[in-house]
Amino acid sequence: MRSEEMLTRGALELGIELTEEETRLFMRYLDMIKLWNRKVNLTGLKDEKDIIISHFLDSISASSFIEPGSRVLDIGSGAGFPGIPVKIVYRGVRLTLIDSVQKKVVFIKELIRELRLRETAAVWGRAEDEDNGIKRESFDCVISRAVGGLSDMLDLSAPYLATGGKIVLMRGRRGEKELETADEGIKKRFRIAECKTLKLPYGGQTRVIFAIEPLDAGTD
Ligand code: SAM
Repeated sequence: MRSEEMLTRGALELGIELTEEETRLFMRYLDMIKLWNRKVNLTGLKDEKDIIISHFLDSISASSFIEPGSRVLDIGSGAGFPGIPVKIVYRGVRLTLIDSVQKKVVFIKELIRELRLRETAAVWGRAEDEDNGIKRESFDCVISRAVGGLSDMLDLSAPYLATGGKIVLMRGRRGEKELETADEGIKKRFRIAECKTLKLPYGGQTRVIFAIEPLDAGTD
């Protein structure tokens, strides 16, 4: 099966009908990952089909957790996951991505230019740094995939939430166990608003996605 077909069919399986333009943007994204992977180690996955399943399709599987016009922060976005695929599917999202590795942020900035993504900013820095330039209490959703431990990610994400905002964590198969074994302090401060376990298309991995809300919401 051609890569393009694999992407569109897989997205349909996840309930997302990609337009021609969205498909074109994903294919350009794929080309750029392959090109940059030759120069810098951007992502461990080198095979086209693996990138489509484990990066593109996996990332858009979180889009049902995100409101189309919302302000989204992706912490530890690496080569742009899940933020950039979500942005391709929901063009109205106002997206900020942060990563602590400079070369990854240079790639994301180039990608934003190449795909002409509006209202999308990439920041080189650490989420916990006070002066990373990202405003606290200003996002409707803080999302992350495969970054840090669950409790640490909740602590790292919460300060960025506006009133009523939520944290979306994309975790592996052990996600539910991680939450059960989280310390009591975490359980007192956060509640699970939604949890979805899904199997990625084409026999891909199991993904667990949580939407978590702080019990003591901050101010906008
Ligand atoms: N989210 C991407 C994905 O799913 O492909 C990348 C995951 S990678 C395992 C973790 C990324 O988080 C790395 O690129 C790392 O530089 C970044 N990272 C880890 N801790 C961070 C922090 N405190 N602030 C910003 N970025 C961080």
